[in-house]
Amino acid sequence: MVKIQTCKRHGVCNDCGKQQSNDTEIWEIKASTTGHGWTTIMLCRDCMLSLHTAIAAAQIN
Ligand SMILES: [Zn+2]
Repeated sequence: MVKIQTCKRHGVCNDCGKQQSNDTEIWEIKASTTGHGWTTIMLCRDCMLSLHTAIAAAQIN
């Protein structure tokens, strides 16, 4: 199961270290396997876009 939501509390991007502020939105991507806890990754918008670009590039190659 995977959930994505904007970070409600103080968030820090796990990739570039950018902190949540008025102009920086941090997203939480949560994943869980049944019977296990949640794993959370926090990413800023820029790093989410880089990830998306990387996925698109991987599909081409
Ligand atoms: Zn980032």
